[in-house]
Amino acid sequence: MSDSAGRGGNRSGGGRFGGGNRRGKRSGGSARTVAVKRAAPTVREPITLPPVLSVSELADKVEMTGVEVIRELMKIGIMANLNQQIDYDTANKVATALGWESSEDESAQASTSADFESRRLESESDPDSTARPPVITIMGHVDHGKTKLLDSIRSANVAEGEAGGITQHIGAYQVETHGRRLTFLDTPGHEAFTAMRARGAQATDIAVLVVAADDGVMPTTREAIAHIKSANVPLVVAVNKIDLPTANPDRVKQQLSDAAVMPEEWGGDVPFVEVSAKDKRGLDDLLEVLLLVADVNELKANPNKPATGVVVEAQVDSNRGAVATVLVQSGTLNLRDVVVAGSTWGRIKAMFDDHGKRVRRAGPSTPVEILGLMAVPQAGDTFEIFEDEKVARQLAEQRSATRRIESISENRPVKLTELYDQVKEGKTAELRVILKADVQGSLGAIQNALLKLNDTTDEGVQLSIQLASTGAISESDINLAATTRSIVIGFNVRPDVAAKRAADSAGIDVRFYTIIYNLLDEVKAAMTGLLAPVFEDVTDGYAEARNTFKLPNNDVVAGLYVLDGKVVRNSRARVLRSGVVVFEGGIKSLKRFKDDVREVAAGYECGLGLDGFNDIQVGDQIEFLHRQEVART
Ligand code: GDP
Repeated sequence: MSDSAGRGGNRSGGGRFGGGNRRGKRSGGSARTVAVKRAAPTVREPITLPPVLSVSELADKVEMTGVEVIRELMKIGIMANLNQQIDYDTANKVATALGWESSEDESAQASTSADFESRRLESESDPDSTARPPVITIMGHVDHGKTKLLDSIRSANVAEGEAGGITQHIGAYQVETHGRRLTFLDTPGHEAFTAMRARGAQATDIAVLVVAADDGVMPTTREAIAHIKSANVPLVVAVNKIDLPTANPDRVKQQLSDAAVMPEEWGGDVPFVEVSAKDKRGLDDLLEVLLLVADVNELKANPNKPATGVVVEAQVDSNRGAVATVLVQSGTLNLRDVVVAGSTWGRIKAMFDDHGKRVRRAGPSTPVEILGLMAVPQAGDTFEIFEDEKVARQLAEQRSATRRIESISENRPVKLTELYDQVKEGKTAELRVILKADVQGSLGAIQNALLKLNDTTDEGVQLSIQLASTGAISESDINLAATTRSIVIGFNVRPDVAAKRAADSAGIDVRFYTIIYNLLDEVKAAMTGLLAPVFEDVTDGYAEARNTFKLPNNDVVAGLYVLDGKVVRNSRARVLRSGVVVFEGGIKSLKRFKDDVREVAAGYECGLGLDGFNDIQVGDQIEFLHRQEVART
């Protein structure tokens, strides 16, 4: 993992891609359990909060609107919607910030939780495990022949008796050679691969990197290498299009060894196979090498138990309802099994193989299309089997909540401004960077300069470059950032629309620069704890003081008319008299008639008391604002 693809010149050593434990083990401990029953809404302070609750439930508890809670969450770097589940620690932070004292409601912890991940991991050490087919993903630059290779492998190796049969594209297929099977995921490219990993799934056992022999290593080739490395998956290179007169396989080997992918024949550990997807040349060799790599990695699973696996793709079909292609990773999936997949569940009504044939069961590494789920799961969701439908439904709900907690609290995206604090707290010692630039020249210069910061800063933070490539910031860059907990740096490049959306929803720190000096300066500041976040004031609304009253305790409150926007209880108030700021501070009370309120909209009147300011006068204008962290430009 620490072997960064961006670091040039790492030629010796040849980076073993296929290290033992590829299935990223989650921090083993039992996942937090979820409140199935929630206590009735609380009365007054202090409040108790369950281990997990939704944003809107929290809003109820703290007597605020959902939007206000979301805003508080944003302040601590969490992008959430109303239905999102958050854990107690996060909820507690928000409650505290809003002036509530809260404690965790221990009794709400459900005792029926199952640790999905650990069960799945058991299969690896299960003595009843037997060899299973490898699951293979094909990656590489556009037009280098990924699709053609998948098609050629499939058509050349359909199993006995299936030749001529209809092939169905269900997202994965199996072929047979020398009496053994191999499974190919047939969405080529690293986008699907990273999207799955972003959801915590690792379906791929071996990656095939396709490089066209006439074209050589291209930007996407480098990206694919970075993704494969970060997933620690064994790699086989297919040098394609060797039928072309312009083919130059040696140049490909040279270029790849420069990118720290060292061919076996040159003393490295990456098998290279020369193929022509067009002529179907070398395909047998490729399959043989893949089986060899599978043997070396001892891919095993126990078929004699309930199935677990991963969703490869899923959609709604107007006639058949939710249709999902699942890949069985261990155990055997049977018709009529009750499945929990991600946050949905259902009883399998029908099951089809990659030839569209109805099947009754599917063993390890077999992809099948299943019908019967209540809703559409997402690619990368894991699935499991349960005896009892009721338990399945409950667990589907729990699982989605548990997942969210993990993604919120453990895998929270790294923010450059928080880096130093995290280092001090011992939470991280690494700043991972995905670097995108407009041209190769600036990319190389920035990459070198960034890595040099490791020598010049002695704060114990190490910078590593997960990916350095040219071109716009893409959605798959964001996915890689999410899985590797990296920040994204764009030099003279911007994200495309999909990437922008993905970055916003995942809360990835994406920074743009046009001047190398600024870029280095800011990264260095972050590494040494000198980078302060930039805040800006956001105006919530304006109001005008129309009369004032003195309370028995001598506090003065003003009767306001809200002119524009809204007045929010926890905003700051800025009192303007003839355009001059005479006070800025907190709100002590906000009332409509006799009631305390959280918000008053434009066109309404309200009573306002200010914290430490009793000189409010008729005619004063009051601006209400809150502070918000903004990305640097
Ligand atoms: P992808 O974008 O990587 O999926 O590439 P495709 O599979 O779509 O192939 C791109 C182009 O290269 C197509 O026109 C293919 O017919 C062609 N192609 C693929 N493999 C070979 C090959 O081995 N030899 C030759 N000559 N052309 C190939």
